[in-house]
Amino acid sequence: MTAAHHILEHTFGYTEFRGSQQDIIDTVISGGDALVLMPTGGGKSLCYQIPALVREGCAVVISPLIALMQDQVEALRQLGVRASFLNSTLAADAAQQIESALLNGELDLLYIAPERLNQERTLGLLQRATIALFAIDEAHCVSQWGHDFRADYLRLSVLHEVFPAVPRIALTATADARTREEIVQRLDLGSARQFISGFDRPNIRYRIALKHNAKSQLLRFLKEEHPNDAGIVYCLSRNKTEQTAQWLKAEGFNALPYHAGLPSTLRATHQSRFLREDGVIIVATIAFGMGIDKPDVRFVAHLDLPKTVESYYQETGRAGRDGEPADAWMIYGLQDVIKLRQMMENSEGSEEHKRAEQHRLNAMLGLCEITTCRRQALLNYFGDALVAPCGNCDTCLQPPDTWDGTEVARMALSACHRTGQRFGVNHLIDVLRGSEADKVLQNDHHQLSVYGVGAALDNNQWRSVFRQLVARGYLSVDMERFGALRLQEKCRPLLRGEETMQLRKDIKQPAAAKRQTRSRLPDDLDVALWEALRDRRRTLAEDQGVPPYVIFHDSTLQEMCANMPQSMGEFARISGVGERKLEKYGGEFLQVINAHLAATQA
Ligand code: ADP
Ligand code: ZN
Repeated sequence: MTAAHHILEHTFGYTEFRGSQQDIIDTVISGGDALVLMPTGGGKSLCYQIPALVREGCAVVISPLIALMQDQVEALRQLGVRASFLNSTLAADAAQQIESALLNGELDLLYIAPERLNQERTLGLLQRATIALFAIDEAHCVSQWGHDFRADYLRLSVLHEVFPAVPRIALTATADARTREEIVQRLDLGSARQFISGFDRPNIRYRIALKHNAKSQLLRFLKEEHPNDAGIVYCLSRNKTEQTAQWLKAEGFNALPYHAGLPSTLRATHQSRFLREDGVIIVATIAFGMGIDKPDVRFVAHLDLPKTVESYYQETGRAGRDGEPADAWMIYGLQDVIKLRQMMENSEGSEEHKRAEQHRLNAMLGLCEITTCRRQALLNYFGDALVAPCGNCDTCLQPPDTWDGTEVARMALSACHRTGQRFGVNHLIDVLRGSEADKVLQNDHHQLSVYGVGAALDNNQWRSVFRQLVARGYLSVDMERFGALRLQEKCRPLLRGEETMQLRKDIKQPAAAKRQTRSRLPDDLDVALWEALRDRRRTLAEDQGVPPYVIFHDSTLQEMCANMPQSMGEFARISGVGERKLEKYGGEFLQVINAHLAATQA
């Protein structure tokens, strides 16, 4: 058995490497550089943690996630690995102690914030130590294209200059090719081996539904599918996160707001409660979540539309890192489309930049309106192919109908044209439906040929038509004129009768409503034992001030339920039980299992 495999089994308690882990680990152990692109939950950490233990000296992990360093280090210590971190939260004497441990060869892994590494002093310190490797986590932070750019990351190329013989491994879950090129170039990783895994997250179920009553839709989703689960609800504005959190609390959920405008101590408290307590819901702006390591986030809900497919994929990707079933759930409507289109048109920056933004938004809208498999579309966007429809997204589970909307689309466009492209959607619908509203009469719009031609469709149906026309770029939204709709070049073929248009029939009840409550837990799970094990885990976690998943993951507890080990030997065979955890917790959990058996067999 190789040294790496030995550590996998004895320290981590796993039996096999996943995907390309073995190759990556071998590369780094033998001194080579590596660039690793792996989806969230793919198992990136082992790729540097195992080489850290095999190679001589201490591995230095550069990570921007200061708030999480403590938990990452704690998780390693639970395995008996000698890990520490250096960042600005440490007092001077604590930092001093860690520095001497490093110099004395008493550390296997040291997590460092990038700004710290850029200080001459720290570089000097590392030069006096034996360094096993450098791991650059969240490597996409070096890219100005990405959304998480950190100026501190730019200076990391210094590592290669100062330590030419120490292997480097850069890791990220960010998919696109441009970011990848930038990482290679800026970190001087031209000769690194690249390990690019597919980006699919098969355990995540993607659903995007029409927004009709956001609150009741969200409530229903949470009550029916995630009554006690941890999850994230994303909103666009700070205000809305606070209101939504408050309202969810009143509805009996353990919900907390998170946005950049909250005092930093409160933010830290909320983040830590999310990590440490079971079943907390965070209602957040996009300020929340980068690198959130919590493995058991069961859902990510979007109440507002993200601006790009990249953000959507990154945000939804925070669900289900542990590989267990998780939901990515979003609702959106005409107002979201209009709002985002307006924001883009009004944004600062060059024409080229605006065009690029529009392009990205179009892709996002396309994903919302698509009538085929969402996962195929998502993966295709990132240059990854999925041959067959996935069977685990809403369009696969409940295929939407389409209808020939050519005639009504022409009516809508012509209403826009005849009213001088100066009016918003509500007025246009009034005209089409033959309303006698003041605004219609005052503008003499009851005299137009389009007046009343669309009476056969109700208000919602018309909104659906307009939404799809805006989403597909047939109509634009004029910011200067309070959301007036304008015809785009793209309309011509349709108006000339050279093109037809298939529209998506909106599903009244989003896919969720039809499904019975789906439990992620196995059907034959012994719930009483499961709860008892979770209780014991909670107590142990509280005693040590660590998140419960640091003790054992849910999947490890589930395996305990299924196998009911009754000796240390049997307990050791559960996945996720390494030597240290066996010694530390085996007795405690065996006791719970035995008590349960005694109670049920009596
Ligand atoms: P990433 O950093 O890529 O998002 P992690 O390194 O956090 O993913 O790993 C995700 C989960 O998978 C963790 O719970 C980890 O313990 C588990 N894991 C990683 N590699 C293996 C493996 N070879 N066998 C079993 N579980 C693994
Ligand atoms: Zn699908």
